[in-house]
Amino acid sequence: MKALIVYAHPEPKSFNAALKDRAMATLNELGWRVEVSDLYEQGFKATADGEDFTARADADYLKYAFEQTNAAKTGDGFAPDVAAEIAKLEAAELLILQFPMWWFGFPAILKGWVDRVFAAGVIYGGDVGMFSRGRFKGRRAMLSFTTGGAPETYGPAGLYGAAEVVLWPIQNGILNFVGYDVLPPFIAAAPSKVGDQGRADLLAAFDARLRALDETKPLFFHPLEDFDPDAAWTLRPGVSGRTVAQTRDGEGEA
Ligand code: FAD
Repeated sequence: MKALIVYAHPEPKSFNAALKDRAMATLNELGWRVEVSDLYEQGFKATADGEDFTARADADYLKYAFEQTNAAKTGDGFAPDVAAEIAKLEAAELLILQFPMWWFGFPAILKGWVDRVFAAGVIYGGDVGMFSRGRFKGRRAMLSFTTGGAPETYGPAGLYGAAEVVLWPIQNGILNFVGYDVLPPFIAAAPSKVGDQGRADLLAAFDARLRALDETKPLFFHPLEDFDPDAAWTLRPGVSGRTVAQTRDGEGEA
């Protein structure tokens, strides 16, 4: 059983580092072989550009996803840092993304990791599949992140809005998109404001979450079969939207 933790924080003494270390220790104890991509420590390049390919199919005009697909076909077409991360991802049955929430999403270095590593033609795409027919079907992924805001600010009545709404682009648009079973996120809210005991409690709660992985039900996403490709991939008549983003009640429609 292999796990990959992709960790994105610039400060090695941060609370995110403590969560990453706790995940490594707990997963190791549970029998997982854990690999860590420490993006800042690796100096991972966040920007997607033509340097990401050893050879270009079209040297005149960069179509990034087209070059990814071409690189996937040739076998050795990705730059070494991208190829190494793809190999780690392919080997892992469990993916944990560990990061501080910045501007309601990933730090740029982690977004760049996704842009460059979740490559068309190898991680997703026409021949590889997407969503419920995605390449990572049957594997699990989860977000583990810290916030500045208190838990209530990410509640349905909160100033920032419900966490599942804030996280929809990542949990659906990235993880579910490539087929993962997406486990509920672990949110370490406001670690700088909760005091020593609060931080100890957060680390203990994360430990407990990891020990309960096998009993944790993945989040619900509509499978592809719920959508009609002949109706621009909208929910089929009779299928009620069950996510925060697909809310149409289709009951009773023709
Ligand atoms: P740190 O400040 O590194 O750590 C908090 C405390 O934990 C420190 O006192 C540290 O010493 C202590 N600690 C470290 N290790 C341990 C340990 N092993 N045991 C116990 N204590 C330990 N917040 C939002 O809610 N939404 C946003 O959209 C948002 N956008 C942001 C954008 C930017 C660019 C920035 C810089 C911040 C943003 N924030 C936002 C706030 C940010 O999410 C928090 O500052 C961050 O998540 C806190 O996590 P950290 O790991 O950086 O904490």
